[in-house]
Amino acid sequence: MSKSLAGKTALITGSTSGIGLAYAKLLADQGANIVINGFGDPAAIERERQALEQASGAKALYSGHDLTKPAEIEAMMTEAANAFGGVDILINNAGMQHVAPIEDFPVEKWDLIISLNLTSAFHTSRLAVPYMKSQKWGRIIQTASAHSLTASPFKSAYVTAKHGLGGLTKTLALELATFGITANCISPGYVWTPLVENQIPDTMKARNMTREQVMNDVLLAGQPTKQFVTVDQVAAMALFLCSDAAANITGANMTIDGGWTAQ
Ligand code: NAD
Repeated sequence: MSKSLAGKTALITGSTSGIGLAYAKLLADQGANIVINGFGDPAAIERERQALEQASGAKALYSGHDLTKPAEIEAMMTEAANAFGGVDILINNAGMQHVAPIEDFPVEKWDLIISLNLTSAFHTSRLAVPYMKSQKWGRIIQTASAHSLTASPFKSAYVTAKHGLGGLTKTLALELATFGITANCISPGYVWTPLVENQIPDTMKARNMTREQVMNDVLLAGQPTKQFVTVDQVAAMALFLCSDAAANITGANMTIDGGWTAQ
């Protein structure tokens, strides 16, 4: 069977784990060159990189830069351009969370979350777009969140950043509409990944709850299906957005949230 993304290059930020790794695997299965990014155990990352090459029959590059720093984002985009000429599919996925009441919210956490969850997407996009324009084809996909459309208490920085990502995406869609480049958000509800698991202790503290109460009464409370979204369901949406069938979907916010934001 022919691979639908053969000859394309996909760069996925924050792809050593969770949703990002699922995107990388699915796009590699379709033959794309892949640039993965993120932190983690070097040996485990190298194993993933090799597995991506095996799946794609193309190349996979690991670029481990810290995307809270604009100079490191520039270095990552330069590495991708040197290896592959440029990036056809940009998935801005790296993100972090911190849960605290506004009056206790650490200022440095606010700055970090805004820089990683929002500002990094501005930098990767501005650096990726000239090549996409030259190809008259491109896909920019943000992993936003249900929190790009609605809020929850104690997540001021995250909710602010994700709403901002929605605005950036609409702006990109309008600017790039006549260049064959689409820009869209994918907005999952709760997906079972390390990011969700790691916020349970702080939520327990902030809301004075047990682990089970946080899982059922906070995380899944707003998700009418009462099921966590899977990373594969999120990746499948990204692959669809890369297809020709999705060429007229731009500026959209595709929710995969078990009905959360329908309420
Ligand atoms: P995760 O913690 O499993 O993965 C986060 C990735 O980002 C990792 O690869 C990590 O190494 C990388 N990363 C962290 N800090 C970085 C930095 N400074 N520079 C570069 N990379 C960095 O999380 P996940 O749940 O897979 O989340 C991925 C995205 O999905 C995030 O933007 C998150 O906000 C969003 N999201 C997650 C959920 C969920 O329920 N898990 C729901 C909606 C949206």
